[in-house]
Amino acid sequence: MENEKFQMFCRFDPRKSACISGYFRALIRSLLVAAVLAPSFHTAVAQSSIRDYRRAHERQILAEFTQLVAIPNVASDKENIRRNAELIQAMMQRRGLNPQLLEGKSKDTPPAVYGEWKVDGATHSIILYAHYDGQPVDPKQWTASPPFQPTWRSAAMEAGGQIVTLPANGDINPEWRLYGRAASDDKAGVMAILTAFEALRAQNISPSLNIKFIFEGEEEAGSPHLGDIIDLHKDLLQSDAWIICDGPVHQSGRKQVVFGVRGDQNVDVTVYGAKRPLHSGHYGNWAPNPAMLLARLLASMKDDTGRVTIAGWYDGVEPIGAAEKRAIA
Ligand SMILES: [Zn+2]
Repeated sequence: MENEKFQMFCRFDPRKSACISGYFRALIRSLLVAAVLAPSFHTAVAQSSIRDYRRAHERQILAEFTQLVAIPNVASDKENIRRNAELIQAMMQRRGLNPQLLEGKSKDTPPAVYGEWKVDGATHSIILYAHYDGQPVDPKQWTASPPFQPTWRSAAMEAGGQIVTLPANGDINPEWRLYGRAASDDKAGVMAILTAFEALRAQNISPSLNIKFIFEGEEEAGSPHLGDIIDLHKDLLQSDAWIICDGPVHQSGRKQVVFGVRGDQNVDVTVYGAKRPLHSGHYGNWAPNPAMLLARLLASMKDDTGRVTIAGWYDGVEPIGAAEKRAIA
């Protein structure tokens, strides 16, 4: 459970980065899109309307969320991962989002759940992304409460939070926490997006863009089939930008929007050295030292400013342009 907070920093393997790279430029423009979105949403009014809606529907929202967190969601658990997709599909159906399951090339691929909010006269579209699978879990390590038995606590466990039951009515203490696998990363993303949509719709607030929704079911497994799904459903997934709702809040606790996505690259390195201990008097200073060679290799991959020095590493990465800099300023 302690790992929960670290899950917020999701990993993208090279395959996933490749899948998303076609949309990377669009992602870079996301703040520009946000700038387009903001005036039409009358941001401050919209935010307070959404807050009011959330307050009025808090129990209903949390009940639906708890139901979602209770379904086991390890991507390799084919039967249960599909149950998650089907529940999200039903949640979107209730909201009038015309959802459908986007299948991959193999029937074993967890489907992505897709829906859309078409706005009259809108000529641009953005895609909101979140993932409904969670990191693999060993129930034996969840000694406080089982991973798929959502449990309320009065505060964070490390702060001594005790198990509590939601009261039938009255205010819900904002310090209370829901513990369960993927309660934050990233079923919270799915729930937040669908709730925000519902709140806007309830207040008759429309964006100036079409909004498409895609919820993936194997991000924590490295998104091995997201590329297939995007290829197979290119027409549906046409858009001006993707906004990935799968990141942490700022360390200060404030919400944040950032450009681009970070990725990681996994490699196996084999380091060769002597098969037996070498006496320093015989071999010192001239026998290759594998630890030293590896340290030199790793250190050579970045310069003093943290920039990667590997040739071609930044190919295809578009720097932030003037429009983005204006939006940030
Ligand atoms: Zn995530």
